[in-house]
Amino acid sequence: MNARNSYPSLLDPDESDGSGGDSSGQQGHRIIPGELDLSHKVILYLDDINVSFDGFKALNNLCLTIDAGELRCIIGPNGAGKTTMMDVITGKTRPDSGTAFFGQSIDLTRLSEPEIAHAGIGRKFQKPTIFEQHSVFENLELAMKTDKRVWRSLFACLRDEQRDRITATLRQIRLDAQADRPAGLLSHGQKQWLEIGMLLVQEPQLLLLDEPVAGMTDDETMRTAELFVSLAGKHSLVVVEHDMAFVGQLGGLVTVLHEGSVLTEGPLSVVQEDPRVIEVYLGR
Ligand code: ADP
Ligand code: MG
Repeated sequence: MNARNSYPSLLDPDESDGSGGDSSGQQGHRIIPGELDLSHKVILYLDDINVSFDGFKALNNLCLTIDAGELRCIIGPNGAGKTTMMDVITGKTRPDSGTAFFGQSIDLTRLSEPEIAHAGIGRKFQKPTIFEQHSVFENLELAMKTDKRVWRSLFACLRDEQRDRITATLRQIRLDAQADRPAGLLSHGQKQWLEIGMLLVQEPQLLLLDEPVAGMTDDETMRTAELFVSLAGKHSLVVVEHDMAFVGQLGGLVTVLHEGSVLTEGPLSVVQEDPRVIEVYLGR
């Protein structure tokens, strides 16, 4: 089997040599992981995004800009459109209208879900999808294999590099002592960290995390905040969360969504005092 056949437009150097190949739909731009154009320091740009479900506007002229390396929290009441926004960014839902760019040149509205994952956007869903009967290490190994960039390793000797990446990730997610344990035996919080690790081994530039600390103990929540703070800078993170203590620990800018639009944006201390935010969300 030739893994190159899976994503020729993204990964085949013969097709993306800059001589007129147009895999992103943007003339002259190539989509090669690691070559994201961050020249304007913006990693994600959403402008005037609209999504309707049977006439109901889940996203209503949504605008959002995330800087490279930023750690952004998204809060807002249930039904505000937080998950739909992530669906748009990852290509699961096509917006009815609007602009969505990853870096300067990758038009997300023209890529499929696997192409977007390849381009460097990783998403963690609320429910962990780990392989319980496999060890923690094997889970990371499997996640790395689903990263089609690794096809190169079939031909070049990257095995040591891959192993090192898994070892480093195990330390990052604090599961180095659990590497050989079946993942099914981990605590709920550890399973969540493993799933985050399964994203990290694929080296995404932008991580989307939907309610990552739901169901965690206070201690696990605090450690998760430390992990996210340590990932910012190298990665950009967009975190949807209801736990305000956790949001405060992350310390980044907070965007409040309401009825499919941005209600306000700022430091948590400012946003928390905004009467509109108290009315639609925090005062519940
Ligand atoms: P949040 O994550 O902020 O709670 P969602 O993005 O899940 O909000 O949902 C926003 C609104 O869109 C909700 O009213 C929800 O019922 C609706 N919605 C989301 N996905 C669908 C869908 N696939 N079909 C119909 N309605 C949907
Ligand atoms: Mg949601």
